[in-house]
Amino acid sequence: MPHLEEYRRKRDFSRTTEPSGEGSESGEEPGFVVQKHDASNLHYDIRLEINGVLVSWAVPKGPSLNPKVKRLAMPTEDHPLEYAGFEGVIPEGEYGAGTVMVWDRGTYENLRDDMSMEEALSDGKVEVRLWGEKLEGGWAFIRTGSGDNARWLLIKMDDEHADRSGDILDARPDSALTGRSLDEIQKEEG
Ligand code: MN
Repeated sequence: MPHLEEYRRKRDFSRTTEPSGEGSESGEEPGFVVQKHDASNLHYDIRLEINGVLVSWAVPKGPSLNPKVKRLAMPTEDHPLEYAGFEGVIPEGEYGAGTVMVWDRGTYENLRDDMSMEEALSDGKVEVRLWGEKLEGGWAFIRTGSGDNARWLLIKMDDEHADRSGDILDARPDSALTGRSLDEIQKEEG
């Protein structure tokens, strides 16, 4: 069974429109989502489907297509699979209050063919090929340090989808699901 206790404990589903995860179903290919989350600090939540849940990291500065840039990625609680389709406003006073946008969404492939995604997570080195609308090609999540000092870094692998010149966060700021901006989502769903 998916481990969503922490996710559910933090939320009051009579108040937030986020999914409770009761009906999680997986498709053929594992999915990923990047949600732009305008909470107390604007950040990007990157989630990979692994064994029936979305394993999640909060990336304060968001992903960069430049392979020389390492972005801090802080592990957060597993989310239900339906969360990949969640775009809306979490009410004031609730956990994660603020506007959530589906900034990118797609499927991925495990590039560590010597091990499963779960094993790669425990090994502290996750390498995936993303098939999103904005993020494509190889990406690495690398754990440094251990215990409470463990930190993950998100790094674009150097391939034909790398880009050292622009900033994809500025170039393509809107929803991959609905084309809406954060302001539009906030006005329409808030
Ligand atoms: Mn968040």
